[in-house]
Amino acid sequence: MPQIIDGKAISAQIKDELKEKVAALKQEGTSLCLAVIQVGNDPASSVYVGNKKKACAYIGIESLSYELDESTTQEELLNLIKELNKRQDVNGILVQLPLPGHIDEDLVIRTIDPSKDVDGFHPQSVGTLCIGQKGFVSCTPAGIIQLLKRSGIEIAGKECVIIGRSNIVGKPMALLLLRENGTVTVAHSKTANLKDVAKRADILVVAVGKPKMITRDYVKEGAVVIDVGIHRNENNKLCGDVDYDDVAPICSAITPVPGGVGPMTIAMLMNNCVESAALNR
Ligand code: NAD
Repeated sequence: MPQIIDGKAISAQIKDELKEKVAALKQEGTSLCLAVIQVGNDPASSVYVGNKKKACAYIGIESLSYELDESTTQEELLNLIKELNKRQDVNGILVQLPLPGHIDEDLVIRTIDPSKDVDGFHPQSVGTLCIGQKGFVSCTPAGIIQLLKRSGIEIAGKECVIIGRSNIVGKPMALLLLRENGTVTVAHSKTANLKDVAKRADILVVAVGKPKMITRDYVKEGAVVIDVGIHRNENNKLCGDVDYDDVAPICSAITPVPGGVGPMTIAMLMNNCVESAALNR
């Protein structure tokens, strides 16, 4: 049977480590505060925002919550961000995506001060990641690196295939695996012979956003499989982009859904908040 990579346990471990760091920072007189902005009341976003605030409370980070009406104008949102950029007591600014259609998401992301960009979405953060300099890293891919490292899985020299090239998962994942000396291939919706490409992987990261698309035909025997997808199936149960029951028996390690990649995203967001406070003290 494969090693089941336990994202719940690993994220709990990271959060406990951060709790200690926060206590030490507070003793030195450094305050930690994350501003969380939500526009509208999309139910999924409300759940994510609630979980982020809960994690802040657990670790000892203060959270400022801005729940703005769906009709908030772009200018009002940008003005709030500019105000938070100036505030010395705010270390991190998070704008929950997606935003209502009348607001330009790229402009919102670009308005956040890069030194407070704890989501790692600002072009400056993406640039520093690309050239291997210090900066905030997108939380889901950063969490996957932690899952691999803390599960004793070697990345250096391995064939790493990522299926999906989104700005928040696929592309930063490729850069991080490259930074860890993996040999990286990024596959996507226009990739020819996807099954053959995926089967080259020692480490296969799947972020396609299609429930249970990846069956064992895409997986080399003994591969490590990381499933980023989150979906609700017809019985309202959570499932991933990988057909877990089909793939698990042939791989060496796999992340379940739920309890794999999901919990790591918030843990790494907390990590970015703590780094931000430590850097700017
Ligand atoms: P996205 O829709 O932005 O990107 C999907 C990518 O998959 C695209 O680059 C596309 O080229 C590729 N793709 C689509 N269909 C394909 C096909 N048939 N063959 C090959 N490639 C194909 O999605 P995303 O934001 O990267 O998210 C992917 C999944 O991960 C979603 O299910 C999302 O809900 C989930 N997600 C989870 C977390 C988490 O914390 N666990 C975080 C972000 C996203």
